[in-house]
Amino acid sequence: MNPEKAITISAAAHGIRSEQICPRALGIIKKLQHAGFEAYLVGGCVRDLLLDHTPKDFDIATSAHPEQVRKLFPSCRLIGRRFRLAHVHFGRDYLEVATFRAPHQDGKGGQVNAQGRITHDNVYGTLVEDAWRRDFTINALYYDPLHDEIKDFVGGLADLAKRQICMIGDVEQRYREDPVRMMRALRFSAKLDCAIDGETESLILPMAALLNDVAPARLFDEMLKLLHSGYGWQSFQYLDEYQLLDHLLPLTTDSLEQDPDGRFQRLLELALQNTDRRLAQGKSVMPPFLYAVLLWDKVQHYSAEAQQDGYPEMQALQLAATEVLRQQVKHTAIPRRFSNITRDIWSLQKRFSTRELKRVTALFENIRFRAAYDFLCLRAEAGEPVAEDAEWWTTFQDVDPEQRAAMCSKTSKRRRRKKRGPHKNSSQSNVG
Ligand code: ATP
Ligand code: MG
Repeated sequence: MNPEKAITISAAAHGIRSEQICPRALGIIKKLQHAGFEAYLVGGCVRDLLLDHTPKDFDIATSAHPEQVRKLFPSCRLIGRRFRLAHVHFGRDYLEVATFRAPHQDGKGGQVNAQGRITHDNVYGTLVEDAWRRDFTINALYYDPLHDEIKDFVGGLADLAKRQICMIGDVEQRYREDPVRMMRALRFSAKLDCAIDGETESLILPMAALLNDVAPARLFDEMLKLLHSGYGWQSFQYLDEYQLLDHLLPLTTDSLEQDPDGRFQRLLELALQNTDRRLAQGKSVMPPFLYAVLLWDKVQHYSAEAQQDGYPEMQALQLAATEVLRQQVKHTAIPRRFSNITRDIWSLQKRFSTRELKRVTALFENIRFRAAYDFLCLRAEAGEPVAEDAEWWTTFQDVDPEQRAAMCSKTSKRRRRKKRGPHKNSSQSNVG
């Protein structure tokens, strides 16, 4: 294949219709081209349009440098250090406009560390160079909506027809440059129902450990892209099968290995399938809930151990939550605003057994009630012994306020005096 030569085909021949293109993206491309720059739609949106999927977003690639883009669009903001990108804003929404980049080894601004990983990647290039630095052939198709043309330098159209995911260039080197590409391969395979080709597939398992060197914050983002893609359950199974999970969620894999009756596996399956369903219905999903599920078994385990050491139930759970989150953030950094909610979902579980009016009301009015109740129902469905509580709370929400009061007892059983843990002032750090 001549790397400079593109196959150019008419997009209409592939069934792309102009009304499928985001009008804002069209407007940006028009303005860039009229100013004398090259500008195309690129990446996931072209791929998805050709596969008859609805694109998630419309990314634009251009020969204009970020500063030049900024001059053309007053609402443009430049972001990023590793990848300098232009965001053209429309209120709270924005479209991403990226300048063509060259493969890092050919330019001056690129940097690779001792393991071959890209650390800086700000080398501007030509359209052809930009195509060859992308990850998979099906992600390197350029669509010019003004001239109704698709440009393919890397054989992406042929791979799309075969429904296969194929790395551009030397697979080993490309995984070394950016190990997250392994996660991306699995994500696209799950989402697009495409096979992963040859070495692109066979090198994932032997190279999985490279994920240990990737920044935990980036892995958190990528994890969400996989598990909140609408194909979360399939993606999770691929992560497990190719052993990437060991490096992303080692506590979860440990739980799965010590899951004799398959209850935890069932919880994960129900939760991820439920998430996929919610996304298909356009409903919201939240990262704290996902992590509450993924780490639940370990929290229970550590909590039981702490109780054996003499801690009261609630304190044991808090200690367990802190420890589990402390271990997990080494792999995928969970922002504190999320992990605090995860903690709440866990700690509210213990309160669902109450039937005393005051406590029931307080729990029902808790800001995290809905998430905690959904979590309780999943646990019940997975076979944990909480079905009675789940049913009671389901009925409670269905009936009118008078009946609610009638379901509850007026007074609590005499409260036992609080038992103290072995370390009287054991302070709880807020890790996670
Ligand atoms: P999605 O539907 O999830 O948005 P996408 O292919 O558009 O899929 P993005 O993460 O939005 O994925 O990236 C846009 C494009 O940027 C990709 O299609 C690919 O061409 C390129 N790209 C993204 N991440 C990488 C990477 N790690 N290495 C090389 N190219 C990448
Ligand atoms: Mg995209």
